[in-house]
Amino acid sequence: MSDEVDVAQDVVELTNTVAVQAVRHQLRTSGRDVCQSCGEAIPAARRLAAPWAATCLLCQSRLEHRNKVGY
Ligand SMILES: [Zn+2]
Repeated sequence: MSDEVDVAQDVVELTNTVAVQAVRHQLRTSGRDVCQSCGEAIPAARRLAAPWAATCLLCQSRLEHRNKVGY
């Protein structure tokens, strides 16, 4: 009986550990699903290529253009 309880506790602890690690990994690697600028969904390919990206490719290039030319 106590063995079963021990095993159950181990499973609960392991599950919690895995869940915490998954959340931490998600926080570390995920940027945003939605473009901060236009509100459109950021394509999965861009999120994979640049997980920190907060804008879609179009808005990013607009921002870079604006920074470069000043308007
Ligand atoms: Zn955008």
